[in-house]
Amino acid sequence: MNVTVVGAGVAGLTVATELVERGCKVEVIDRSEGFGRDTCSWYAGGMLAPWCEGDTAEEPVVRLGQEAIGWWRRHVPDVIEQGSLVVAPSRDTGELARFARRTEAHRTIDADQLTRLEPDLHGRFRQALFFDAEAHLDPRKAIAALAKKLDQSGVAISYGTSVEDHRVSGSVIVDTRGFAARDVLKDLRGVKGEMLVLKARGVEFSRPVRLLHPRLPVYIVPRGDGHFMVGATQIEAEDRGRITARGMVDLLNAAYAVHPAFAEAEIIETGADVRPAFPDNLPRLRWHGRTLHVNGLFRHGFLLAPACARMAAEAISSPGYKPELMYEDHRERSIA
Ligand SMILES: Cc1cc2nc3c(=O)[nH]c(=O)nc-3n(C[C@H](O)[C@H](O)[C@H](O)COP(=O)(O)OP(=O)(O)OC[C@H]3O[C@@H](n4cnc5c(N)ncnc54)[C@H](O)[C@@H]3O)c2cc1C
Repeated sequence: MNVTVVGAGVAGLTVATELVERGCKVEVIDRSEGFGRDTCSWYAGGMLAPWCEGDTAEEPVVRLGQEAIGWWRRHVPDVIEQGSLVVAPSRDTGELARFARRTEAHRTIDADQLTRLEPDLHGRFRQALFFDAEAHLDPRKAIAALAKKLDQSGVAISYGTSVEDHRVSGSVIVDTRGFAARDVLKDLRGVKGEMLVLKARGVEFSRPVRLLHPRLPVYIVPRGDGHFMVGATQIEAEDRGRITARGMVDLLNAAYAVHPAFAEAEIIETGADVRPAFPDNLPRLRWHGRTLHVNGLFRHGFLLAPACARMAAEAISSPGYKPELMYEDHRERSIA
């Protein structure tokens, strides 16, 4: 079967990978000039943290997200399986207890155990939650690795190619345009996220650290070589724009609360983009004619793309199969 995948973000490249593995002939097109700042996936933290997400997310996110670590380990190098940590300032220890009640697969550790895991957090927190089965990756390297593997399988990604100007060759089209698909998916909304990349001397982490805060929960993801991704705000707004002063102040304050060395950090990058989300913040697969939409990954792009891609590939290769994330809505039209 010939399939055209529209969009080369995390949704598009995971679907393309699953389809190739099932023997489909795949082409991928993307309107941007290459993987970068035009793509929401560029800004992700890359946490593969299904149990932590259970604090705010629905049950399918926790369950389906558990497929992610194994999937990424099988397909890209450098999946770091060191777990993740959740901490709270001493005045907010109630937040830690609340987070522990709402999530699973963690254990409470004391200050000494925390120091053994992350020596640079010595003396910073009296308690933490350790989710030892979680993992993280660098989204930019992961997308590059997927693109390379696809290329080796004979799937070229045609950048600079908008679906509107392209003669689609596939008998099936998979629309993974993210928020740009709002032209046809009318209930898709944008949730703005802001992030920073800092370079800090004198502080090293081996795993993501989440700081609980009643107003702005923040995570810090180590990217190696003293670099850290600090994210992310969550604003009901649809402008991609730049990071706001408030977002910058909140993210920097939170990083500083985790470790004072972040006060001296260089700000390497600031970024903001719009996460594609449906009203319940769960992803959806939808058929419209010969187009299958895979969208609504919200703040769980790298976490849920493997499960969505598996379901999309099964739906394409086994007519009649209806995955749990398949929603019917015939009011909308397809892109081709
Ligand atoms: C600050 C921030 C932090 C985040 N942190 C995390 C995290 O830690 N973990 C996690 O799992 N998720 C995270 N996310 C969410 C994640 O980034 C998104 O869920 C994910 O990137 C959505 O992927 P996508 O492939 O659907 O869309 P995109 O990545 O936006 O890809 C869509 C692609 O479609 C292309 N396109 C659009 N229109 C057309 C057209 N007409 N023709 C051809 N191509 C087109 C675009 O150029 C783009 O490349 C974060 C998001 C943000 C903003």
